[in-house]
Amino acid sequence: MNIINQLTAEMERFYAEPGPLNPQLDREAILNALQPFDFAEARPAGDVFETVSQLVRAGTVHITNPRYFGLFNPAPVLPAIIAEGLAAVYNPQMAAWSHAPVANEIEQHTLRFIATKLGLPLEQLASTFTSGGSEANHSAVLVGLAHHFPQSLDDGIGGLPKRPCLYVSAMAHNSFDKIAKHVGLGLSALRIVPVNDDLQLDIVALKAMLTEDRAAGWEPFMVVGTAGATATGVVDPLPELAQLCQEQSLWFHVDAAWAGAVAISPKLKPILAGIEQADSVTVDAHKWFNLTMGAGMFFTRHAKANQQAFAVRADYMPPSENDAVVPYLTTLQWSRRFIGLKLFMALAEIGELGYAAMIEEQTNLAHYFREQLDQQGWQIVNKTALPVVNFTHPKLTTGNLTADDVVQQLYAQSDTWISTVTINDQKVFRFCVTNFKSTRQDVDYLLNELTRSLY
Ligand SMILES: *Cc1c(COP(=O)(O)O)cnc(C)c1O
Repeated sequence: MNIINQLTAEMERFYAEPGPLNPQLDREAILNALQPFDFAEARPAGDVFETVSQLVRAGTVHITNPRYFGLFNPAPVLPAIIAEGLAAVYNPQMAAWSHAPVANEIEQHTLRFIATKLGLPLEQLASTFTSGGSEANHSAVLVGLAHHFPQSLDDGIGGLPKRPCLYVSAMAHNSFDKIAKHVGLGLSALRIVPVNDDLQLDIVALKAMLTEDRAAGWEPFMVVGTAGATATGVVDPLPELAQLCQEQSLWFHVDAAWAGAVAISPKLKPILAGIEQADSVTVDAHKWFNLTMGAGMFFTRHAKANQQAFAVRADYMPPSENDAVVPYLTTLQWSRRFIGLKLFMALAEIGELGYAAMIEEQTNLAHYFREQLDQQGWQIVNKTALPVVNFTHPKLTTGNLTADDVVQQLYAQSDTWISTVTINDQKVFRFCVTNFKSTRQDVDYLLNELTRSLY
């Protein structure tokens, strides 16, 4: 059992002090290090552990480093790491309630708590943990289709008199492109609505597109509002979208993969106003709830459509007449990991006030960054109360230097990480606070390094 001590020692060391941000190994070095693993002979567990952990330490962008200001990748809280171990030890099979009654009820208990925070009614609620936001969005499209086109469950989309289509903003997550292909709708059925000057889905444009598409023979069935766009952190006009969907009998899905977590902060929650009217919602627990990957959540207020979308007959499964939840009949996955334990344990140990404080502090840190940028002559190009900052510098709009040059220099010469993104045809920086341990000193360090790279 000595190997378990090795693991806990590594966890303790690494949790206290994450590695340098940028990978120390190139691909050739990695392949060379893997060469000896031909699996011909069994090796001692301790040696394997030591080699593998050294490799991973040296060959990773350490998103747990407080100077990582990158994509929506969390520095996980400790209870999540512990829960991963516990879930792995018991390895409950979630597919059937009767195989894992406690695990299933722990998940449902946690999901009901989050649903309540989002303002969703518990009556007729169907919800599940997913691998991530993509699977949750995928589930939303499947359930929306089942609700609007029940006959398609037997005959397929091809059997419908009119082609169904759905609407997302130009800033929506690209998981919807994959989903449109996977569910057989096709990419052309994914209608991309332009954004307004504030980078929100333009509702006037949406209304015009709905009318035109109907006239052209399409059958619109779903609109997606993004709460916290991946590139910009911007929240679409959810109350207006909810109303429009109500009027036109469209499924209203809110993709709150990242920003859904602010539902736990009484102070920030108003940002999500309108989400409580959604037909379905995506929240990623492995984003701003700071859990280890992967942990998404899917919620819908249409338990019946959800059931129709996923139900099957399988006589080798345990009978489920008396079960409260039957995941294999109500969700996309079958055999599934006990994903929800980490959110349950993190909520139990940190408490909702503790979580709210973590989220608010990260938001405040981004405000501080905005102020500093402004004072030092940088230009901010997005408007959001959430901790994503898109910015550029006059030197980059006039000279030869590009934002991509600057970040490449940053990766090579500094111990910090941000990314770039194209907004309104302009390449700009994207900064996001994802780590509850990041401080003003970390932000100041980034600013100094950025300024240095301009000259
Ligand atoms: C990250 C993200 C997704 C995809 O979630 P995964 O967990 O990476 O599958 C979907 N929507 C938004 C808005 C996101 O930020």
